[in-house]
Amino acid sequence: MMSRPLRFLPLLVLTLAACTPGQQLANVGQVKLAARAYHDDGRYDAEFAKVAADATAYLEQRASRVTRPAIVFDIDDTALTTWSAIQANDFGYITNGTCSELPKGPCNSIAFEDAGTMPALQPTLALYRRARELGVDVFFITGRREPRRAGTEKNLKFAGYDAWTRVVLKPNNFPSDKSSADFKSAARAAIEAEGYTIVVNIGDQQSDLDGGHAEKGFKLPNPFYFIP
Ligand SMILES: [Mg+2]
Repeated sequence: MMSRPLRFLPLLVLTLAACTPGQQLANVGQVKLAARAYHDDGRYDAEFAKVAADATAYLEQRASRVTRPAIVFDIDDTALTTWSAIQANDFGYITNGTCSELPKGPCNSIAFEDAGTMPALQPTLALYRRARELGVDVFFITGRREPRRAGTEKNLKFAGYDAWTRVVLKPNNFPSDKSSADFKSAARAAIEAEGYTIVVNIGDQQSDLDGGHAEKGFKLPNPFYFIP
């Protein structure tokens, strides 16, 4: 899909990273097995919860000390889990057909987004609730494109994210050769320009954090795909 051109390459990235001169590339099938084991054996949950806890502690420390405190959440695999589609598509990213056979695939990821049934990642939901208690304004910034707004907002509410200041989706005409980091950092700059202080910015991709415009970025684990 144009909006996520490298989404099908995570295993290649892992493979290249695992290769040193003189060695053969890692076997993609084995890397998939390792990624599934990482997700299923508790390491993913533990590392995810640790990052969310660190973000919560930072927010609690800073929220009352800044002007108009705000928090920025990414959506996919930050607020909501797409794991069932990742599994159904065997780590691929599919945008044809339907997504009506889960847990069987293939699952059209666009249809999956429009269905609005992804569960929350619980450590992020807890962070969200703490932010609300602290009076921190909540912003979601996602690489999903504007036509996905209805399903996205429906899904956030379904998962327990029941109020926010704004959900920022990528404009449908955003150039496909520009990075997610370009889009997201500009969106954060626009929030700051309104007078907010973005205390915490949290996401599962480095491109969610690159470009600044937040006091502190928190990188959640995601070895399953890559978005530049
Ligand atoms: Mg994400």
